[in-house]
Amino acid sequence: MVYSGPMGNHHDRPASATPAACGSTWGYTTRAVQSAIPRGLGQSIGLPVHTAAAFQFGNLEEAQEEFAGGGGLSYARMQNPTVAMLEERLSSLEGAAHTLALSSGQAATFTALMSVCRAGDHIVSAATLFGGSAGLLQNVLPLMGIETTFTDGSPEAMRAALRPNTRVLWAEMISNPSGDVADVAALAEVAHAAGALLAIDNTVGGAGYLARPLEHGADMSVQSLTKWAGGHGSAMGGSVSVSGSADLSRNPIFTEGAERSLLNLHGAGALAQRQRWLGASQLGMTLAPHSAFLLGQGLETVGVRLDRECATAQALAEWLSGHPRVSAVSYCGLPGHPSHERAQRYLLRGKGAILTFDVPDPSRFLGRLQLLRIAPNLGDTRTLVVHPWTTTHGRVPEASRRAAGVGPQTIRMTVGLEDLADLQADIEQAL
Ligand SMILES: *Cc1c(COP(=O)(O)O)cnc(C)c1O
Repeated sequence: MVYSGPMGNHHDRPASATPAACGSTWGYTTRAVQSAIPRGLGQSIGLPVHTAAAFQFGNLEEAQEEFAGGGGLSYARMQNPTVAMLEERLSSLEGAAHTLALSSGQAATFTALMSVCRAGDHIVSAATLFGGSAGLLQNVLPLMGIETTFTDGSPEAMRAALRPNTRVLWAEMISNPSGDVADVAALAEVAHAAGALLAIDNTVGGAGYLARPLEHGADMSVQSLTKWAGGHGSAMGGSVSVSGSADLSRNPIFTEGAERSLLNLHGAGALAQRQRWLGASQLGMTLAPHSAFLLGQGLETVGVRLDRECATAQALAEWLSGHPRVSAVSYCGLPGHPSHERAQRYLLRGKGAILTFDVPDPSRFLGRLQLLRIAPNLGDTRTLVVHPWTTTHGRVPEASRRAAGVGPQTIRMTVGLEDLADLQADIEQAL
């Protein structure tokens, strides 16, 4: 029994699948609202929530086929129709062959890295990372015998750090909070020449609306769906999208076992297979269906939200740059930013919704805010600020904090949907 789509087996009449045009000719926002929803009599117009823990078989043979690796519905730890719809939508938006949705961005990062590494293997990473990713690389993967070399993220530095056992390169598409943009095409070349893969954290790339690393040669695009994809600060989730063209032929995980090797059994789908087996089936970092619904619904408006948020972020960055009480404004949409040129090359639309700036007295500034809220999330509909030096980056070594563009006076802001004039007025009075 091959699982024919999220609603494929819920009607006598086969639902016509999502239109074929979906992956190819339609624009981003059309795909965001239309993908993963079958057409046909009785089909729901939005994403349905399926809460069953298990799914039925018609006879023993169907059950046996599924347990032998059918890839269909059996038990909700492995696959659930609502989660599958979210995955189909994410694949459409990221230009991916397969997507695995999991319970958090952390779960997705861990699964992406562990899917191609085992004890004795090596990872090369950019140093300016989201704190949770740095924690996995520094503190968790070493428990499993996997070592990471941190670099400045440039193709030259990453090439110099390669070892014969390097399996994957890791970098953020747009780093948080410094706004460095990864040179994905050059990093892909470095990785592939060494028989390794390139995995990019595309969280700030907003579900493929601002950036699509797979189109530039990355093998995996990971995101925290908690941020822009969900977009309302209402659910946790994460995803790994894969290109379907990763060269796995130089990684023993995929080649060992002769004719029973993962590569022989699953071909181009071997990476996606291993990720679902590891992250969902074995580790159980399964996304809850209600969260999948919230995140999938969030995706319907991610483009519209990011248009507004990026425009407001750009306007605030320019305004703050000329403000007498503000210094060191950092936003890759500003001409002076080190990644400005790369942002023009890789970012499809706006330059992201995160900016940082230094104020004379962060504690006083944050204490006086009346509209902006102090909270650590990103990509919310509401504008949120933090003092990274003492909170999100508080445990990062001082040199790394400074390298990430975080100083003692730095405020990080993730821009929401409020009116620009209201945000400016609140910041002005707080300054
Ligand atoms: C938040 C975040 C993560 C982790 O995602 P969670 O959903 O919080 O687990 C990973 N990478 C980046 C860039 C993030 O901002």
